[in-house]
Amino acid sequence: MRPEILFNLFASLTSIKGVGSRMFTLLDKLAGPRIKDLLFHLPTGMIERRHVQFLGQATIGQTITIILTPSQHTPPTTKKGNKPYRVQCLDERGAAIDLVFFHAYGDSIAKQLPVGVPRLVSGRLEDFQYRMQITHPDYVGSPDDLKDWVGREPVYPLTQGITNKYLNKIMKEALSRCPQLPEWLSDSSWPRWHEALREVHELPTDESISPLSAARKRLAYDELLANQIALLLIRQHRQKQPGRSIGGDGHLRDALTKILPYQLTGAQDRVLERIYGDMESPTRMVRLLQGDVGSGKTVVAMMACLKAVEDGYQAAFLAPTEILANQHMATLSEWGKTIGVRVELLTSRTKARKQLLEDLASGEIQILVGTHALIQEDVHFKNLGLAIVDEQHRFGVEQRMKLSQKGDNVDTLVMTATPIPRTLMLAAYGDLPTSILDEKPPGRQEVVTTVIPLTKLDEVVTGIKRAIEKGQKVYWVCPLVEESEVLDLAAATHRFEVLTKLFPGDVALVHGKMKGTEKDQVMEDFLAGRYRVLVATTVIEVGVHVPDATIMVIEHAERFGLSQLHQLRGRIGRGDQASTCVLLYDQPLTETAKARLKIMRESTDGFRIAEEDFRLRGGGDVLGLRQSGMPDFKLVNWDFHRDLLGVAHKDAQRILNDDPQLTTDQGKAVRTLLYLFEKDRSVNYLQSG
Ligand code: ADP
Ligand code: MG
Repeated sequence: MRPEILFNLFASLTSIKGVGSRMFTLLDKLAGPRIKDLLFHLPTGMIERRHVQFLGQATIGQTITIILTPSQHTPPTTKKGNKPYRVQCLDERGAAIDLVFFHAYGDSIAKQLPVGVPRLVSGRLEDFQYRMQITHPDYVGSPDDLKDWVGREPVYPLTQGITNKYLNKIMKEALSRCPQLPEWLSDSSWPRWHEALREVHELPTDESISPLSAARKRLAYDELLANQIALLLIRQHRQKQPGRSIGGDGHLRDALTKILPYQLTGAQDRVLERIYGDMESPTRMVRLLQGDVGSGKTVVAMMACLKAVEDGYQAAFLAPTEILANQHMATLSEWGKTIGVRVELLTSRTKARKQLLEDLASGEIQILVGTHALIQEDVHFKNLGLAIVDEQHRFGVEQRMKLSQKGDNVDTLVMTATPIPRTLMLAAYGDLPTSILDEKPPGRQEVVTTVIPLTKLDEVVTGIKRAIEKGQKVYWVCPLVEESEVLDLAAATHRFEVLTKLFPGDVALVHGKMKGTEKDQVMEDFLAGRYRVLVATTVIEVGVHVPDATIMVIEHAERFGLSQLHQLRGRIGRGDQASTCVLLYDQPLTETAKARLKIMRESTDGFRIAEEDFRLRGGGDVLGLRQSGMPDFKLVNWDFHRDLLGVAHKDAQRILNDDPQLTTDQGKAVRTLLYLFEKDRSVNYLQSG
């Protein structure tokens, strides 16, 4: 149970004065619902508000606080255009300055700044056509408030409806609720946790804002330490669980090998050897299989399933989407039919569900493929021995656990096509045993990638025409409009209409708003060749296999992250024909976007792309990381703190080595650290162990 000392930190933000239900909703969206979430919302900059007596003491660009006396109001003469409301003011020496307000409504400004009455004004000093001005002052009020409007002020990432001043105010309150926690670090050269937190929010020196300040590093280190200890505890727990040895005489695997139209690659053989080894060993297997799109993970997974089936066990194959489950089902059941293994599919749309569940419980179904439907309560296996989880990052830990709990100590193989930069593997998976399929099946054509401005759309259309005439297929992926499915859809619909005019009857549209059944129908029609061009929002992202698709057009490629572009490109080049990926971009390109497109043109190696993606990505943009299955770190800035990961990993090992049950004083402090970062599950393993 969470220790009492953390209660304040886990209290709701509504317990702070000034946080009503409206502000709570906004703060929850911005930082999270609890005091600790707010405290982990770190400033990204600092402004220094200088108090100046008169304007002569200030320079343009400074943020100042000054007493000014309004001398004249000049409202805009017309509502048209974007003319501001100006208030001319004088400082105590008679120097003139304008306060400028755009979109000023009613008489609020007249009330705030009555002519002849001295007012306290705070804001950034600008010059405009040789006049000094402050546009939209941060504050206009009584001169008595002076002390609130001078000095350093942390600048926080904000959201509509929350001002920086407000956030500063409630942050102070949150800080005052912050307890002194027992020290979990043995190295006393770091600032204490409590002091570090204070320093990163109060910014006592210019250095404090730097991600490399001792305070920031300590907080980042703490977060990494909690992450590493938690991962180690989970691993220890796993290793303590009894496993079982899965053998198998190899007859099904031999049979499959005979009917495959190809030989396994060296990488596939190597990976399988490790997987077989894990399955045979008496401890429970949990292994990660990383392999770029098209590297041939499916047949590896099938081989592992067959080994389990040979020994009388059942296997489950969990896929994140219906499309993928269908596709795996098509491949696996085809193989199964030929070699005499019963493979079935379970999704939310399965019709004869009752019968299927009976056959599963009786053991007649040997391999069950499916979506989330697999982990529902009433799904019982007779003897589940192996669980395969495809695109594992699409599932939560809980979901994965639910699947493995459908048998005793089920061996688990999780697979991902989204390479994580080597440097980050530790943070995402700890020491999880990992295999990499680092060799593509032979005979594949490299995909050529071209980068073309949107203005040359005509050329692309000509290329598509040629491809269609040759009987090939084309994907056209539409721009990703941030946070707006509605706009996504509008863009895709528009493109669909334009292309339909050019290629009547040949174009289909698939998007995220469609029902699963509708999507699958369109995909099936496209696969069967009833359509030649598939316009899509990013729903085709993972795993879809259409061998005769040879062109992938990605519109507004500059808006996509590298890993996403790479995933999308992986949809083509799956047959024996030369394929082209067309990255259509819109001007102007940012430097980062330019660099991204360049890497895409130069490389098709998912691991290199992942590394570059990580290198290019600013600390703020963690979307791509999250998509690759990385846990969400609040205090770690990967641009600056990545070296701390290795240190935290070693320290975590040492701590658990010296004090495996965390019972010493320092050990108890480490427990507090784990609770602070919500690693309750790992601490529970301790108490039960
Ligand atoms: P992944 O799931 O890793 O993206 P798949 O398992 O879908 O890749 O395999 C992609 C394609 O490669 C499939 O068409 C499959 O038949 C083919 N393939 C797999 N292994 C080999 C191999 N050793 N030699 C030739 N083709 C292979
Ligand atoms: Mg796959």
